[in-house]
Amino acid sequence: MIEKDRYAKLREIDRRHVWHPFTQMKTWMREEPLVIERGEGNYLLDVNGNRYLDGVSSLWCNVHGHRKRELDEALVAQAGRIAHSTMLGLANAAATELAEALIEIAPRGLSRVFYSDSGAEAVEVALRIAAQYWQLKGETRKRRFFTLSGSYHGDTLGSVSLGYSEQFHRHLRPLLFSVTKTEPPHVFRFYHGMSREAALEHALSEAQKLIREASGELAALVIEPIMQGAAGMWDHPAQYLHEIARLARDAGALVIADEVATGFGRTGRMFASEHAGLCPDLMCLGKGITGGYLPLAATLASEEIFEAFLGEPDEFRAFYYGHTYTGNPLAAAVACANLEIFRKEAVIDRLAPRIAQMTRALNEGFAPLPHVADVRQAGMMVGIELMREPTRREPYRLAEQTGVRVIKAARRRGVVIRPLGDVIVLMPPLSISESELDTLLEATKESIREVTEA
Ligand SMILES: *Cc1c(COP(=O)(O)O)cnc(C)c1O
Repeated sequence: MIEKDRYAKLREIDRRHVWHPFTQMKTWMREEPLVIERGEGNYLLDVNGNRYLDGVSSLWCNVHGHRKRELDEALVAQAGRIAHSTMLGLANAAATELAEALIEIAPRGLSRVFYSDSGAEAVEVALRIAAQYWQLKGETRKRRFFTLSGSYHGDTLGSVSLGYSEQFHRHLRPLLFSVTKTEPPHVFRFYHGMSREAALEHALSEAQKLIREASGELAALVIEPIMQGAAGMWDHPAQYLHEIARLARDAGALVIADEVATGFGRTGRMFASEHAGLCPDLMCLGKGITGGYLPLAATLASEEIFEAFLGEPDEFRAFYYGHTYTGNPLAAAVACANLEIFRKEAVIDRLAPRIAQMTRALNEGFAPLPHVADVRQAGMMVGIELMREPTRREPYRLAEQTGVRVIKAARRRGVVIRPLGDVIVLMPPLSISESELDTLLEATKESIREVTEA
C-alpha cells in the first residue's frame, strides 16, 4: 500500500515537473511510467519492487551490471578523498591515472586524453580539435567534415551538424554547418538485392568519388566504426572501415572514430576500430567508459595533433575549450576501476560464447519470423528490423508504433528494451549470463510475435 502511494506520488511529480529527453511529452503524460529505483546485477527494480532485465544496458552504457562491487567501492573510496576539483590550472590524481590506463588500451598512436562529460561533447571536442588543427597548420581550406548517412554523434550543435536528421533537426537547420555524407554498404537499406561484396564495392566507389570532389577541403572523416548505433544498428564490414579510412587519409584528412557506443567491448573487441586494424587520429569515448556509472567522456588524440597546439601564450594556439566538471574525480576513479575489471575478469575473452548465443538465436529464432525484415549484429549490439511486408519492403505506418508496442509487450515479460523506430535493439550488459540472455531473447521474440502476428 505504501509502495503504491509512493509510485502515485512520483508519477504525479514527474507529470507535473519533468521534461524527458527525446520524448513526446503529450504521449508520455498519458502513460504509466516505469519508475526505477534500484539495480541488481543485470536487473532493474522499480519502486513497486518489480524486476526487469536491463536489455539495453540503461541506454548502452552499463557494462558489468548494476551495483558491481568493485565500482561501488571505487566510488565510495573516491568520495572519501574528494568529489570534485577542477582541471583548469590543477591536475587531479584520478583523472591523471585514468589517462595512462586509457592510452594503454587505446589503438596505437593515440597518446593524449581530453576529458568532457558526455559522448556529444567528446565528438564536439574532436571536431573542434580537427578544425583548429588545420588552421594552425596553415591548411585553412580544410574545414569540411565527411560522415556516413544516418550517423549519430550526439546532441550538441556541432555533433548535430555531423549527424543531421531531417525529422529531428529541421528546426535547427539555420544554426548548423553542412557536411558531406556518403551511404554505407548497408545492403538492406541502400543496396537491396545486391550481395554484400557488390554493396561494399559500390559504397567504396561512392565514398571515393565524394572524397575526391572535396579533396583539399576535407578536415576529417567522422565514423562510428563497424556499427552505426542510433541509425538503427547499421553494421558495415571491417573492410569498409579500413578502406574508407585509407581513402580519407590519402586525401589528407584526419580520421575520427566515434567509439562512444562501440567502445569498451560492445562489438566483441575493446574498440571496434580494432576489427579493421584502424588507428584513428582522434577517438571519442563515452557511455561504457565508467561501466555505466557516471557521466564522463574522453577524446583521445595523437601526439602529432597535440603538438600543433603548442606555442607561447601570446600565440593563442591553445585549445580553448572545457567544461566545469571536466575530468571529475568520482567519474575518473570509477572509470579506472572499470578498466581494471576488464583486465582482471578477462571480459573481452569471455564474451565469445554470449555473442555466438545471440547469433544462433537471431538466425534460428528471429530471422524466420514473417515480419522480421532484417537482422543485424556486431558482437553484443543487435538490431531487429520489423516490417509489415518484408518481401515488398512495406514498412509499418508510423502511427502504428510497432516498435513501441513490442517493447511494451517485452516489459510485461520482465524485460526493458528500447526501439529505434521499428528496429528492436538488444544491447545487454557484457556481464549478462547464458540463462539471462536466453530470457532476453525469448521475451523479445515472443513480444515481436504477439504484436506483429496478432
Ligand atoms: C550516444 C552516442 C553519442 C552521444 O553520447 P551522449 O553521452 O548521449 O552525449 C555520440 N556518438 C555515438 C555513436 C553514440 O551512440
